[in-house]
Amino acid sequence: MIMPLIKGLQITISHMFKKPVTLQYPTERPEIKPGFRGLHALNVSHDKAKCVACYLCPTVCPAKCITVEAGEDANHDKYAAKYEIDMLRCIFCGYCVEACPVDAIRMTEQFELANYSRADFTYTKDRLLEKK
Ligand code: SF4
Ligand code: SF4
Repeated sequence: MIMPLIKGLQITISHMFKKPVTLQYPTERPEIKPGFRGLHALNVSHDKAKCVACYLCPTVCPAKCITVEAGEDANHDKYAAKYEIDMLRCIFCGYCVEACPVDAIRMTEQFELANYSRADFTYTKDRLLEKK
């Protein structure tokens, strides 16, 4: 009876002198580790999205949350006329990034994705292009 009590007290006292592991969020920000998978962003080249609408990322996405519609520009090059990700369904697996043959999509360090309406969780091409 007394030994478990002493052991418990030892643990409690030892923790009193340790640095707390919790953060006073949002005033204290967490350190984002390399390889963190947050919100997606579309990469840009020559002032336009690098995406060539190859459909690999919607095909590989296990949550089926990416919608791509191809268009043809003035030079007859294929581009993503529509690119959308439904972040309510995304499981942040990163397969879309791995699958992309032209490095058109990446995942940012942005993790604060709370919102008030379902529509706000749909990240359109324009919204994804804004992300750093
Ligand atoms: S991270 Fe995974 S679930 Fe999310 S959009 Fe990419 S492939 Fe789909
Ligand atoms: S895999 Fe890359 S190029 Fe292909 S549709 Fe997705 S983002 Fe665009």
